[in-house]
Amino acid sequence: MLAEFCRIVYRARPSWWLLENVAGVPDVMVPGYSHFRIDLDARECGLRQIRPRVFQFGHVAGLVPVVTRRRWLAVDPSRCAMASEFSRPGRRGWPEFCELQGLPRDFELPGFTLSAKYRAVGNGVPLPMARTIARAVLDARALVPGESLCRCGCGRIVAGRRELATVACRKRAQRKRDGVRVTVPGPVTAAASRLIAISVAARGPLSRGTSRLSGQSAGEGAR
Ligand SMILES: [Zn+2]
Repeated sequence: MLAEFCRIVYRARPSWWLLENVAGVPDVMVPGYSHFRIDLDARECGLRQIRPRVFQFGHVAGLVPVVTRRRWLAVDPSRCAMASEFSRPGRRGWPEFCELQGLPRDFELPGFTLSAKYRAVGNGVPLPMARTIARAVLDARALVPGESLCRCGCGRIVAGRRELATVACRKRAQRKRDGVRVTVPGPVTAAASRLIAISVAARGPLSRGTSRLSGQSAGEGAR
């Protein structure tokens, strides 16, 4: 699915792209775009639900989304609302489930069966989380001299000689050291080129005018 996403972005050439997935998703690098990774939990968006998710963002001009996070609410958080909720033991009621996803308690999906409603809402990005990300994209800007991205990959901007934004970032950076590579806007990786190549091979050759792939990759310094 990630290769397919990559192929569509590459063919459609939007000025920016955004992808949401569960934690642990590999970096999606598209030639010609910067790459930016945002680790965000639903609790940082004002929700009572433990829901760590990864958003990936790419921009042709390398702009960086500016995420405004909220303080976690000081209440016992609920377990993650998932698409499989309907068939889970201890299923939470529909109003409560909607509320966890940031929807009105009387939210309705006319024409859906109850199990389909749980699946649709559980699969979705919670509304306040989507708004947080939308705001971050609207506020996207270039980094100014002296700024950099937190080394842990959370997406926070740090200033001066700081490399990590929070105490949690330090722990996360340690955990990630030998895991998924954290990237910053700019270079296109060799792994990304392979991803594209696999995708293109599966779907046939690219059409005329898209041969910028190799030129852009080389120009931006594949590593
Ligand atoms: Zn961080």
